Amino acid sequence: MEKKDKVPPKRYYRKRVELFKLIDKIKLWPSRKGILHGIKSVENMGPQARITTHCGKTFVVNDSRNSRAARWLRNKWFGNVCPVCKVPDWKLEKYSATGFKRHYGSLLLDENKK
Ligand SMILES: [Zn+2]
Repeated sequence: MEKKDKVPPKRYYRKRVELFKLIDKIKLWPSRKGILHGIKSVENMGPQARITTHCGKTFVVNDSRNSRAARWLRNKWFGNVCPVCKVPDWKLEKYSATGFKRHYGSLLLDENKK
């Protein structure tokens, strides 16, 4: 039924992109157990943010480029995709087409327009 021949365009972000900007963009969260969750909302609280996943988990994270989650997101380290969050395939494809580079790509600094 669905045509799967559309390959999402390669996108690049800087390795030093801010974590909050990144998760606001890709809306995915790798848990410590290696499960990739879909992010429902990000509530900015200054240096921290409260993240709510589609499966109902809520937690507060620090805006660190070097945090575990930031590294795991960049390296795409996850085992399974959360079955409750029901992350759509197109989102996962978009994520897998996303690369992170030190000297190339968006820092997501001036993307306030939605
Ligand atoms: Zn989930």
